[in-house]
Amino acid sequence: MIKEILKELDTKHVKLVAVSKTKPIAQILELYQVGQRVFGENKVQELVEKAELMPKDIDWHMIGHLQKNKVKFIAPFVSLIHSVDSFELIAEIDKYAAKNNRIIDCLLQFYIAQEDTKFGLSLQEGLELLSSKQYMQLENIRIVGVMGMATFTDNKTQVKAEFNHLKHIFDELKSTYFKNEDSFKEISMGMSDDYKIAVEAGSTMVRIGSLLFGKRF
Ligand SMILES: *Cc1c(COP(=O)(O)O)cnc(C)c1O
Repeated sequence: MIKEILKELDTKHVKLVAVSKTKPIAQILELYQVGQRVFGENKVQELVEKAELMPKDIDWHMIGHLQKNKVKFIAPFVSLIHSVDSFELIAEIDKYAAKNNRIIDCLLQFYIAQEDTKFGLSLQEGLELLSSKQYMQLENIRIVGVMGMATFTDNKTQVKAEFNHLKHIFDELKSTYFKNEDSFKEISMGMSDDYKIAVEAGSTMVRIGSLLFGKRF
């Protein structure tokens, strides 16, 4: 399964974040052994525990909602935070990145779904954040792209429209704030059920869990 998915993504230059939340170390190691090095978790405690137990050459991504008071636990090692949705959060990440003497890569999470359970910024909020003086003073974070989640629905037309919307937001931010920054290049969208649609819409990074590891209970 993983080999087919990887091949498919590879030909399109899309990166795979293997979402290992709730799954045991033994099962994650199986994927590691066939070469996968990027894993995503959505809870800080689980992320920290797994990072301690797993090989050190893994890139750990935080993909779930992140509370400010938990940033310090992942700041020493996290390789990408997908879920930045406020200035307060990114300022906290900057603070702990500095304490750990590093620069932490982040994605701005945008709200693209028609559900009110999903976190994220509106385009307007994103623009305000990026043009604020306080943001420009941060030196230990680097925004490398955007992230979003489509509505949980079978309606493919709707999902496609939502992913197109995120691509549009990315293009808008790129041309306004990151024109000369090659590092601003990631569009994290697409999960087990909708990654093909996401890739068609321009995803550069898909977050796939159940398709790789089996259903979560
Ligand atoms: C769980 C999760 C995924 C993966 O979901 P699957 O449907 O299992 O592929 C992707 N992104 C986020 C933010 C998640 O929490």
